[in-house]
Amino acid sequence: MFTAVEMAPRDPILGLNEQFAADTNPNKVNLGVGVYYDDNGKLPLLQCVQAAEQNMMKAPTARGYLPIDGIVAYDNAVKGLVFGADSEPVQSGRVATIQAIGGTGGLKVGADFLKKLNPKAKVLISDPSWENHRALFTNAGFEVESYPYYDAARRGVNFDGMLAALNAAPAGTVVVLHACCHNPTGYDITPEQWDQVVAAVKAKGLVPFLDMAYQGFGYGLKEDGAAVAKFVDAGLTFFVSTSFSKSFSLYGERVGALSVLCENKEEAGRVLSQLKIAIRTNYSNPPIHGGAVVAAVLGNPELRALWEKELGEMRVRIKAMRQKLVDGLKAAGVKEDMSFITTQIGMFSYSGLSKDQMVRLRNEFGVYGTDTGRMCVAALNSKNIDYVCASIAKVI
Ligand code: PMP
Repeated sequence: MFTAVEMAPRDPILGLNEQFAADTNPNKVNLGVGVYYDDNGKLPLLQCVQAAEQNMMKAPTARGYLPIDGIVAYDNAVKGLVFGADSEPVQSGRVATIQAIGGTGGLKVGADFLKKLNPKAKVLISDPSWENHRALFTNAGFEVESYPYYDAARRGVNFDGMLAALNAAPAGTVVVLHACCHNPTGYDITPEQWDQVVAAVKAKGLVPFLDMAYQGFGYGLKEDGAAVAKFVDAGLTFFVSTSFSKSFSLYGERVGALSVLCENKEEAGRVLSQLKIAIRTNYSNPPIHGGAVVAAVLGNPELRALWEKELGEMRVRIKAMRQKLVDGLKAAGVKEDMSFITTQIGMFSYSGLSKDQMVRLRNEFGVYGTDTGRMCVAALNSKNIDYVCASIAKVI
């Protein structure tokens, strides 16, 4: 039955992890996968998460099925984070939110719903984009194309190219936008550029799908949600996927969400009913634990304040590492101006290194980034930074 089955290529990022695990270099550093590690190189277990779990252990509960759309308190907390608890969309009840299996699950439920709604629509993703965007929307049945984004020569965003592509897209085209902390480049567009994107999306009748996997990692929770607010202010209806994998350091719990902003409450009810069908026919209903932890933290003022503090510490540490990288590369003899690294935001840096240089970094120094030159600066720490700088200096 399986003789004709071909071997699929390895996932480019998870494949790197396997290679890293097998590497015997004692100095090896994994900057490949998008995971935040603390200054000791450890995956953090946030105190707010531990406190919520301890509270939950005091009154253990049986594990029935959750509703198809997940924990009500969780969905409400997501709405508050994405739109603002007192915002008009939340107050008027016109947001349909479902608990999803990670940000990936939110994207997939949205993609399945969109495919039924508008089967002929094309999907536009940024060039480059998170590795899984293309595959996920393709697997949902869409033809996926890209809009220009990264400008290697100018070390920034090719905004004119991006805008031109949006303006040229047929009405109904789904446009996937990184709400903040663009993965993989680390370059975000400015607030003024967002205004122009919103205006183009509105004028051309495009369908915005904001992917918010790093809310809180850029400038702050509210600041990072500013793009969402701009779409709301423009009177548009749109999709937002949320991931708590990074912001709660709950990668393996698979906690995410999808929110769809509708015209009114009645419409949100109809949309929610369709999202539930997408969930029911994929995996029936979400798991309990991760969503319960996030709901408990966000619903308790003290734990929420603790979370915001811990999230802020992660954000500040990443920025400090960016600066250390720039300084360290200079000290290691790199003549090129590398200060662009501090203008990037979020967990990643497009280093501008070539595939050959990235391969050398990996093979000769055990420093792992992707072939595209992407490095996860959130995995740098005070112990590995000098070695990483010296290694990069040797391949440049
Ligand atoms: N979107 C983007 C842009 C991401 O970087 C990621 C995570 N790497 C996701 C979605 C998926 O998040 P999750 O791991 O929660 O499924």
